Amino acid sequence: MTDYRAVAAAVMARRPLAESLFEELVRLSRDPTAGVTRASYSDEENRIHDSFGRAAATLGLAVERDAAANTYMTRAGRDRKAKQIVIGSHLDSVKQGGNFDGAAGVVAGLMACAALQDLGVAPRCDISVMGVRAEESAWFGVSYIGSRAALGVLPDGALDARRVDSGRTLAEHIRAAGGAPEAIAAHQRRLGPDNTRCFLELHIEQGPLLDRDGIPVGIVMGIPGDFRFPDARVVGAYDHVGLLRSYRHDAVVAASEFACALDALWAEWDAAERPMAFTIGQFTTDPAQHAMTKVPGELRFTLDMRTYEPELLAELEAKTLAIVRSIEQRRGVRFELGHTARAAVGRMDPGIRDKFESIARDLAIPTRRLGSPASHDAAAFAAAGVPTAMMFVRNTNGSHNPDEAMTIDDFLQATAILTGWLADAVA
Ligand SMILES: [Zn+2]
Repeated sequence: MTDYRAVAAAVMARRPLAESLFEELVRLSRDPTAGVTRASYSDEENRIHDSFGRAAATLGLAVERDAAANTYMTRAGRDRKAKQIVIGSHLDSVKQGGNFDGAAGVVAGLMACAALQDLGVAPRCDISVMGVRAEESAWFGVSYIGSRAALGVLPDGALDARRVDSGRTLAEHIRAAGGAPEAIAAHQRRLGPDNTRCFLELHIEQGPLLDRDGIPVGIVMGIPGDFRFPDARVVGAYDHVGLLRSYRHDAVVAASEFACALDALWAEWDAAERPMAFTIGQFTTDPAQHAMTKVPGELRFTLDMRTYEPELLAELEAKTLAIVRSIEQRRGVRFELGHTARAAVGRMDPGIRDKFESIARDLAIPTRRLGSPASHDAAAFAAAGVPTAMMFVRNTNGSHNPDEAMTIDDFLQATAILTGWLADAVA
């Protein structure tokens, strides 16, 4: 029978370790303009993986890299053949992002290992803290690069994607970071349901609910799957501003109607309490051809659409395509949607989720259940059939910006729940 209070006290006593790791992160990746920037497979990301590896080694953990240059920091178990427990998150960030998105999950894993060590726990199975590479799809336009590479399921073609700033391919970047893109292309894998008991991820909440409700920790119910059009366009016809309405094939008006139709669909789903979200992150006419006095003949856009159930995702995709067809017919334009990128829905393990809640009750830490509107590495593990669970930590000011505000107190509470679960699981 685990004494969760003793476990929580051991976590609290390791507060200086958490503080120093978060400070180190800022030191290694401060952006001169604002916040931190840790591009996927950048020098900053490399330095952070090295630095966390060194910190882990001083905690007595064995440090390894895989073909994608993900870092594994492992406390060896009594039975090395038993399925391992993996705790992790990503160490990259968006441009001028905040310090906690992703990194908090890796710090939590190291904290949990340190606290169990302090309590003299010799774990039954390996506990591996994973610093995941390249989760932020802003850099290569590909989601879950590090985790899907580790699971042997990075899609063909992803290695040819180019980083938006460097113009170099993912394969080149992986090789420069010491990885082996050919092993990833061959779908060699390090992790899977056969050798991984579960994947646990602690992450800051990216929405406002925990902060609004005054609750430090969220128990994640599921992670949405998505489909995306990274490179879509509406093609109409360039014409003179004097052209009559009925003769126009106006790409901007057609694309605007598309955006409003999706928004109306979302309102309908909201009213029916069916969670979804869509985002048109880019929406632009061609600067080489557009002009104030021309009817726009082309508009480029991106679409990200997400929801929590595979059936609902399929329904959304069908509805989106129906909207496209109807606008094409009425407005005499053509939608060229380009290739569709997809991420599967991530279901959370109900057993681990319930246990997180009961440990939190024991420790008198308030929690609430939440969906995860954003994508996370945990979804890649869930899709690969690894039992997966996630906790969110309260975070003021949203995420993917320099003002992310997670308190160390809240972080320690979530880490105490995580460590309590581990102490049970490895006894
Ligand atoms: Zn993240």
